[in-house]
Amino acid sequence: MSNEQLTKQSEDFSEWYNQVIQRAELADYAPVRGCMVVRPYGWAIWENIQSALDLRFKNTGHVNAAFPLFIPMSFLEKEKNHVEGFSPELAVVTIGGGQTLEEPLVVRPTSETIIGHMYAKWIQSYRDLPVLINQWANVVRWEMRTRLFLRTLEFYWQEGHTAHETAEEAEFETRQMLDIYADFAVNEAAVPVVPGRKSESEKFAGAVRSYTIEAMMGDTRALQSGTSHNLGQNFAKAFNIQYLDRNNELQYCWTTSWGLSTRFIGAIIMTHGDDQGLILPPRLAPTQVVIVPIFKNGQEKEIVIGAADRVKGLLSDFRVEFDDRTELTPGFKFNEWELKGVPLRIEIGPRDVENDSVTFARRNLPGREGKTQEKMGNIQLRTTEVLNEIQNNLLKRATEFRESHTFYPVDYDEFKQAVQKGWAYSPWCGRAECEAQIKEETKATLRCIPFDQEEKESVCIKCGQAATEKAIFARAY
Ligand SMILES: [Zn+2]
Repeated sequence: MSNEQLTKQSEDFSEWYNQVIQRAELADYAPVRGCMVVRPYGWAIWENIQSALDLRFKNTGHVNAAFPLFIPMSFLEKEKNHVEGFSPELAVVTIGGGQTLEEPLVVRPTSETIIGHMYAKWIQSYRDLPVLINQWANVVRWEMRTRLFLRTLEFYWQEGHTAHETAEEAEFETRQMLDIYADFAVNEAAVPVVPGRKSESEKFAGAVRSYTIEAMMGDTRALQSGTSHNLGQNFAKAFNIQYLDRNNELQYCWTTSWGLSTRFIGAIIMTHGDDQGLILPPRLAPTQVVIVPIFKNGQEKEIVIGAADRVKGLLSDFRVEFDDRTELTPGFKFNEWELKGVPLRIEIGPRDVENDSVTFARRNLPGREGKTQEKMGNIQLRTTEVLNEIQNNLLKRATEFRESHTFYPVDYDEFKQAVQKGWAYSPWCGRAECEAQIKEETKATLRCIPFDQEEKESVCIKCGQAATEKAIFARAY
């Protein structure tokens, strides 16, 4: 890794994003166009995301399973909207073992169909319900324009698929899982999100209702960061997922699906990063603390390394790294760990050892401002406190950034300017026509209809007809 300066965010945000990912060794381009290799440091972030989510899934009664990568083509065709939505993105296998297959196999773009097929077999009675299954998997969607983590041909995610007795239970589940995503985003990733409903034209292919959490990136664009879908009885009817109810009558199940992917790593990078590189929220950072010894000669070295070793031992409850490479200068190491976004750096020099203290340097506050002297005796307690403080500051800073780039335009002219510099929160008549015109004229899409709505009569920002709801419009990834 070189110590060369990154492109500044203000000069070219998208170039900054690509450079950070490669230089911090999160991911790399694969030989197949549009595919990515997730490198160990990037995968370690994903593993921490997985643990945080998996715990929440299991606490709400879900279990994990694994379904096949290949899906018979005919399965996709059973749900009309689903196949229309996914057809352009399918990767299809037509040859296996040198023979042309009787039926082509789709490499899963998502698993509603194959899981629906299995549920039809497994569910007979109301006693079998609810079925609450999640899978951690990779999926393939043949995207034309790709960006590392944000949109790649193959990506990693979890997809939850549940089946219920009643419409109410399915709706409860759909909203519960969105709440879980929002809780994860805010409390683990320090990414503030707005939960809400997708418009008809933006909803999942085959869903009755789709919900989303939307986050504002450092260039003010929106990123859809997790979605939860109420599928009604659409897939149950397409796949015959039926059960005998309490009156011994045959009924169709109500199903849901919900997913969050490696795209969320892109959200973390673009929400918190700065011109020096990544800034990782302590709860998800693969390395929370890095210890860097500072010395000039052999005698100092011995004392300093000894103290650094002791600090490492004291901090065994944290994810800590001791950078004892001797061929590199402390300055070089500082830059490298800043680029990698490690939240807390502990510097130890001869004077620190003399004072029985160490120096804390906070990644989110560059330079002097982020440095404090801490006593050795307090080091565990102070590390806990400072990591919490960094976690909270990241959330606060991102929330303030979003608020200061959210606008409430009074007319369409103001609206057009607003979506160039942030999000527009605007009343909308609910017609797809207005939504499409707005998209064509401003490149802003309807991100979500937030759950929090003020009860106020107003008119559509585009056409002036009566508006029923306020929506967030923004340019998006
Ligand atoms: Zn309108």
